[in-house]
Amino acid sequence: MPAADKSKPRKLVPLLLDWFAINARDLPWRRTHDPYAIWVSEIMLQQTQVKTVIPFWNRWMTELPTIADAANASPDKLHKLWEGLGYYTRVRNLQKAAQAIVAQHDGKFPESFDDVLALTGIGRYTAGAICSIAFNHPAPILDGNVIRVLTRIFGIAENPKEKATNAWLWQLAEELVTHAKDAKTAKAFSPSRPWRSLREENACSFLNQSLMELGALICTPRSPQCLVCPVKKLCVAFKENRTEELPNLGKREAATARHFTAFVIEHNGKFLVQQRPAGVVNAHLWEFPNFETNGSPMKPGDLFKAQFKASAPELVPLCTVKHSITRYRITLQAFHLRVKNTALKTTGTWFSPAELDALAFSSAHKKLASAAAKSILSDR
Ligand code: SF4
Repeated sequence: MPAADKSKPRKLVPLLLDWFAINARDLPWRRTHDPYAIWVSEIMLQQTQVKTVIPFWNRWMTELPTIADAANASPDKLHKLWEGLGYYTRVRNLQKAAQAIVAQHDGKFPESFDDVLALTGIGRYTAGAICSIAFNHPAPILDGNVIRVLTRIFGIAENPKEKATNAWLWQLAEELVTHAKDAKTAKAFSPSRPWRSLREENACSFLNQSLMELGALICTPRSPQCLVCPVKKLCVAFKENRTEELPNLGKREAATARHFTAFVIEHNGKFLVQQRPAGVVNAHLWEFPNFETNGSPMKPGDLFKAQFKASAPELVPLCTVKHSITRYRITLQAFHLRVKNTALKTTGTWFSPAELDALAFSSAHKKLASAAAKSILSDR
């Protein structure tokens, strides 16, 4: 770090703390110190926006209010509660970790950083977030938002994924949260909003959350609102007009297009669906039979014959769903067809639309299930 920057972390802390105490959004998980509730929110917030997470978090905490509830929930219930959030490995890891807490910590969420980090699905960022927010430990955090804020404030032009730069950013995050522990914080106490009143016992929590919040609300990837930013006087990117070039994330990997054909097969008002096995993407979720068709000239009817060893009745285009998973841009084209009997060469279970409603689907196949239910209704 350049010599001139040595005192900067200490100067930033009161600015960030005071700004957060006044501007923090009122989010449901900010009204609690329960480490389990904070943990659930942090896992849900990975790859997912705050406004999407709120109803999922509320529903989860109502249905599974304790660690023991999460540890003992059936896989069907867990996946249904997570349906629509995506990245389902998160919920399976969450349950594994809940079971470990029950087995190894008598069901009480551990307070030590190392014990938290040892839990399945919890990395350095999440362990730091839980330990600082729930227990006010001076544990640093570094995610995409914090990287953006720190690289801009400190004018760090190197790629944050590089080992040395990443270590430097962690060190800055640690200095900030450590200074917060000693900050004199009585100034921002607000009796009318006790959940966001800044006090000594939540200064580390607030400092880490202020970095996340600044990245989410002010120091956004595009068009950051520097003029209303509490740290603009100390920010290199603002002073040198470099907000567009920081952070330097290098070249993005090109997206790959993938095409699938799905068959929404109906017999007497029931639909054939299959459950994905363990160990694959979207394990345990339900889906309509579907096949990857990238570049294949095969027509849908011929594909049906080849896959099900049966002649295809009339195929009616049902819908096309486009979505992205990591670097894949996926197009799923669905066809509806009615069969006279269920003797198809495939596995799966036949369910009515009401029964489908109770199963957990990926977002794309949930749309197919809704379209299938509508197709039945429109026939009546
Ligand atoms: S001044 Fe602008 S670039 Fe700097 S931290 Fe604030 S919003 Fe981000």
